[in-house]
Parts: sequence; structure tokens; C-alpha cells
Amino acid sequence: MNQKTELTGTVIYPNDPEYKQARMNWNPFTNAFPIVFVFAQQKEDVANAVKWARENNVPIRMRSGRHALAKDFSQKNGGIVIDTSQMRNVRLDKTQGIATVEAGIRVGPLVKMLALEGILAPFGDSSTVGIGGISTGGGITVIQRTTGLISDNILAATVVDANGKILHASENENPDLLWAIRGGGGGNFGIITSYTFKIRPAPFQVGIFQIIWPWEQLERVIDVWQRWSPTVDERLGTILEITPKTDGLLRSQGIFLGPKAEMENLITTLTDVGSPIKVFIDEVTLPEAIEFWAPAESLFDTQNTSWSSTWVEQILPPEAIEAIRSFLEKAKGSESGFFFLNSGGAMNRVPPQDTAFFWRNTKYYMEWNAAWTEESETQKNIKLVEQTRIQLQPFVTGSYVNVPDLNIKNYGQEYYGDNFARLQKVKAQYDPENVFNFVQSIPPAPVCDHRHKN
Ligand SMILES: Cc1cc2nc3c(=O)[nH]c(=O)nc-3n(C[C@H](O)[C@H](O)[C@H](O)COP(=O)(O)OP(=O)(O)OC[C@H]3O[C@@H](n4cnc5c(N)ncnc54)[C@H](O)[C@@H]3O)c2cc1C
Repeated sequence: MNQKTELTGTVIYPNDPEYKQARMNWNPFTNAFPIVFVFAQQKEDVANAVKWARENNVPIRMRSGRHALAKDFSQKNGGIVIDTSQMRNVRLDKTQGIATVEAGIRVGPLVKMLALEGILAPFGDSSTVGIGGISTGGGITVIQRTTGLISDNILAATVVDANGKILHASENENPDLLWAIRGGGGGNFGIITSYTFKIRPAPFQVGIFQIIWPWEQLERVIDVWQRWSPTVDERLGTILEITPKTDGLLRSQGIFLGPKAEMENLITTLTDVGSPIKVFIDEVTLPEAIEFWAPAESLFDTQNTSWSSTWVEQILPPEAIEAIRSFLEKAKGSESGFFFLNSGGAMNRVPPQDTAFFWRNTKYYMEWNAAWTEESETQKNIKLVEQTRIQLQPFVTGSYVNVPDLNIKNYGQEYYGDNFARLQKVKAQYDPENVFNFVQSIPPAPVCDHRHKN
């Protein structure tokens, strides 16, 4: 008789009191009703969960920080969720310049802990995003022009494959798997239980700034920001955020990995635009800069949100900026908005084929989202996000897999560009039966049959 695998770790079923909390995600729109959650305490629990799911024919979803933005990525009705969020060990080796980090830690606690050790590590704009999901999709960050993407810093990983086997991926072992998880997106190749990242020394001083303008000045501000930010000194990372007209916030902020006096000179192009209501400039330590950028925040949002994202390789013309304004006039939820982040520098110096993350010729990243609370508002908001994507399509390139959009049909090309074909080959090598599949997963490349027929 075949030995049946038992689930190990903390296992939660629908009748357990913890089930309600277990199925909550940052975006409540993504919540589903899995038949079981496994909160792994060690990689063997992950391996057992994969084997159990295969023996019982249950669809698998993997989860770490619960910040998935689209449905079906990290939860499925009737599926098993294999969650690494309770695996949070960090091993720092300053002499070798590496940190080995379990997948369940969140970005905020990790980068703050490293900053206190005098180490600079890339961070996003939310402290609660999981390192498990953000890293393998790319991981855009305000310091990407200095450090590259989070995925550019992955040197090795431990991965549980579709057979429940624990694999190591590095330049020497399973190098194709390492290539794929450096930007290939979560959920495709296996469950990553730990990453080994390259680390670098922190700067002594960090400049920070924030500028707020009247909402009505958005055309001029977008135009100046988009021409200035991709070419400014590489040590300067900056975002532009615009909320709906009803909220009326038009804000840019940034981090400069250097002294405040130098930063002040660099940002005059921005402070000279329109008539800012507020200009805040300061010099702080790295831990303080991280707190400024990504303050502690709640794990769960209360509004449902629908998202789309893209890369900008050419300056947006006035008709594209008009589409942005039109979106912001129609979107109503207070969490809705447009967001821009400059690229260039170290991020763009990595050749597109060197890692699975393809988009290396961009001036900046752009995303927009519509938020709502009433169920009756769902379709209207999804449609608004989609119409805006169609309007912007002629002016932009591709999309970011960590901010996925289920309306994108040719998602392989849009997320991975020319790397999609190689990703499919790696998928065929590590998951030929397509065990890890979801709404926008990478399908395995068809197996070539080289036998000759007589
Ligand atoms: C408020 C907010 C702010 C954000 N800010 C940024 C930002 O600054 N920069 C940026 O790049 N992105 C950002 N994102 C997007 C974020 O990178 C993605 O949502 C990411 O997938 C979240 O990872 P997670 O582990 O928190 O989510 P989860 O919901 O746990 O997982 C999401 C996805 O990651 C995969 N995944 C999770 N864990 C693993 C694992 N152990 N092994 C393999 N795959 C795994 C899942 O399969 C799923 O597809 C933000 C999202 C939110 C909600």
C-alpha cells in the first residue's frame, strides 16, 4: 500500500477558529475559500504539503506576505494554501557580504534590521509586503537605480519543487531555476523557502524630500517629473503619486543616497514647477529614511482594489496625460490613484536576458488602481482601470508581474517580453506536469518529440 503523506506545520481547516483570519489578504477582493491552510514552520512542512496536495489532487497556492493584488494568485476556492509567513529566520554573513533570509519575513522588518547593522537593502513602499512574493517578481524599489531590483540581488534560493523535493538554486546548482526566479514571478516554479541576497554597506547620510502641489497642476508636474527623474543623479529615487480629484493630492517624494545639500540642488527642477503647497527636505539616517518611506501599517486594507501596471520607455505625450487626468476624475475610492517610480541606473544596466526580469530600458514604472467598498461598484471600477489601460496602450510597454492585471490576455509577453519562451522551457524542466498553475501562470513549453517515424 502506498504511504500517504500527512500535513505537518500549523494546519488550519474551515471549521477551525483561526480559519477566518487565515483567509484574509491585504486586498479583500482576492480572498477565497481554500479547504486547508498550512503555515509551514520549516521547509519539510512545505515539502509534505506539496506531496499531500499531489496525492489528494488539490490545487496548490503559495503565500507569504498576503499582498497579492489579483484574484487566484495566492488563494483558490477548494485549494490548499502553503504559507511560509511563519518562517522568518535571517542569517547575516558580513564577511561574505550575504544575507540568507527565510521567505516569510516582511520587507519592513527585514530592511530595518539590516539598516541597524549598517547594511543597505532594497525596500518597497509598504513595510508589510512579504519578501516571498516581492523578490521573485522583481521587487521595484526607490533605491533601484543604486541597488538594482530586489531580484537582481538574489544569489541563491531554496525551492520546494512540484514533487515536494527540496532544491537549491545557485550559479552552480540548478542555474536555470535561479535565472527563472530572478523576476519570473511567484507561483510558477516552486515554493521558495529562503533567498540568499547580496548585501552592501549603508550610506552615512540620506536625503529625503516631499513636495505637494495643488491637484489641478498635475499635467505640468507629470510632464516635468517624467523628463527630469529618469536622468537625474542615480543616487536619487523618486515617486509621484496622484489621488482622485475628490481627494486632490498631488505629491512627489524621494530618497537621495547622499548629503541633503547635494539633493537640494538636484530637486530644484521639481520645486520650481507650478506653485508647491509644501516642500519638505531633510537629512536622516538610513533607518529613519526607511521609516519615512514605508511606515508601519496595517496588514489588511478594507477597500477592494483593481490594478494595472506598465513601463514607460518614451516620454508620455499630452493625450496620455489626459487619460490619466480622466481616470483620476472618475475614480472615487480614497485608495485609488496613479503612481510613478523612476528607473535607470543599476536597474537598467542588467542586460534583459541575464535574469528573467526583462524590462531594462524604461524611464519609469507606472501603476493605477481603483478602489471601492460596495459590491455594486465592482464592475464599474474594474472597467475604469481597463479602459485606462487601453487608452495608454499606444504609449507604454509591457506590465509588471507583481502588479498583475487579469484583463491582460497576452500576459506572457506583457510580463516577460522576450524572456517568456525561456521561462516556459525552465517551467517544462522543473514542473512539466504544470502542477503549479493559476490564472496567469507560465505554461510549460511543449516537449519536442525528436523520434523519427518509419
Ligand atoms: C500595499 C502594497 C505595496 C506594494 N509595494 C510594492 C513595492 O514597493 N514594490 C514592488 O515591487 N511591489 C510592491 N507591491 C506588490 C507586491 O510585490 C506583490 O503584491 C507581491 O506578490 C506580494 O508578495 P507577498 O508575499 O506579500 O504576497 P502573497 O499574497 O503572499 O503572494 C503573492 C504572490 O507571490 C507568490 N509567492 C508568495 N510567497 C511565495 C513563495 N514563498 N515562493 C514562491 N512564490 C511565492 C504567490 O504565489 C503569489 O503569486 C505592493 C503591494 C501592496 C499590496
